[in-house]
Amino acid sequence: MIDGATPAMLERAVEAGRAPTLATLIERGRYIPDAVSVFPSVTPVCAAAIATGYAQDRHHIPSMNWFDRSEDRYVEYGSSFRASLRFGLARQLTDTIYNMNDAHLASDIRTVFEALDDAALRTAGTTYLMYRGRHRHEPARDSLLTRIAAASLVRRPVMGPRELFYADIFASRDTGCHGSLGLPGVRDRHAGCVGSYLVEYDLFDFLLLSLPDNDNHSHRYGPEGQLNSIAEADRQLARLLTAGGGKERFLKEHAVIVVADHAHTLIENTISLVSEFTGFFDIRRPTDLREPGQAEVALCPAARAAMVYVFDERLRDRAIDRARTIAGVEHVIWRDGAEAVVAGNGGELRFAPGSRVRDPRGRGWDVHGDLLVLAARIEGGVVLSERFPDALGRAWDAIACPTSGEVLLSAAEGFEFTDWGGASHLGGGSHGSLGAGDSLAPLICCGVQGELTREQWSIKDVTPLIKRHFGLR
Ligand SMILES: [Zn+2]
Repeated sequence: MIDGATPAMLERAVEAGRAPTLATLIERGRYIPDAVSVFPSVTPVCAAAIATGYAQDRHHIPSMNWFDRSEDRYVEYGSSFRASLRFGLARQLTDTIYNMNDAHLASDIRTVFEALDDAALRTAGTTYLMYRGRHRHEPARDSLLTRIAAASLVRRPVMGPRELFYADIFASRDTGCHGSLGLPGVRDRHAGCVGSYLVEYDLFDFLLLSLPDNDNHSHRYGPEGQLNSIAEADRQLARLLTAGGGKERFLKEHAVIVVADHAHTLIENTISLVSEFTGFFDIRRPTDLREPGQAEVALCPAARAAMVYVFDERLRDRAIDRARTIAGVEHVIWRDGAEAVVAGNGGELRFAPGSRVRDPRGRGWDVHGDLLVLAARIEGGVVLSERFPDALGRAWDAIACPTSGEVLLSAAEGFEFTDWGGASHLGGGSHGSLGAGDSLAPLICCGVQGELTREQWSIKDVTPLIKRHFGLR
């Protein structure tokens, strides 16, 4: 898992000789430059899709920032440090470390760890948002992070893979590797250190190796900066090959899948959702002490996507109209009875699961209205769009998700919503929209069992590929 790796940048890193391990995997395996992400293409939604094989209509993690109707509060997984402070750091950490895998991730689907644990395979994972498995882990008592946070926060055990290494909070054995508080820039090295230890001592059948630093680097320095961070991710991958006796022996004994959750595009403008709704709606604030039901809307910006929760159904059309007037918003999506509506470019397209057309992933749809909204066309009964790949399926999964807002927004190229802390990635890279630039991720399969033909790949295909490789259904 290389967070945020953009296909064009991965290809450039390979061509420039800066990613020799990825080059080997591509040369000996199959490289797919356009596996489609989910929408919103932000990390928690994508991570859950990769780790379960389902979109949020089944996994229920709707965005980076969302409103939990059952608890009548915002959930913030860490859009930025400033946003975390706005909602309370303790609450953000508890939501990210504990609730995401427990209360938030649907309990009726299995993660890749749970599926493999159930088959008595030896599972392992380095720090990744999704870790739910069948093995119990107590928080480490002696790490710096747990000492800082231990008093109140990180006390409960979690259920994870057989071997779990999560920042310095959970470590199923002493590898001698230190996570340094899980800070950006050193997390890849921690993963490489733990990963090579696990290879050296033959401690897994399946390892989810998470290399998150590329995403942070690209947010800061822009997609072009990925040349350096993909090279760093490659160095960590190389450590595993070395620990396994070198390239030849490692690849004889291991299959490797490399995937990113989404890509990155350059940010040149920001949108303040809060300013756009102020004066028109009574907005629920991050720390709103009023009784539930007092505010009219909750606003959930998440990089290049956003959600609006409308508490009074009679205000929904007004919220849609408001959203449609915001400069830099390309698509507004909502549910209308049995149909979903996507508006943009002056038109509207209505669609629902059906049988009149199909998409490249094989799902059937009934569609009417303006196809140009999604730059789409129908060819031989197949609905196609290069600019907004798998848009019908992804928009449907987002609007059908029970924890999503009533109105979903996707930003135009170059635009990003500032988060609740007022932070953005202006001048850097970001992601989240329905657009191809954010949404097409690289996928490399090397040594994976089974056929590899698909008309259109998705990051949701990774867990099924892994299960099939191990002979599971
Ligand atoms: Zn990101």
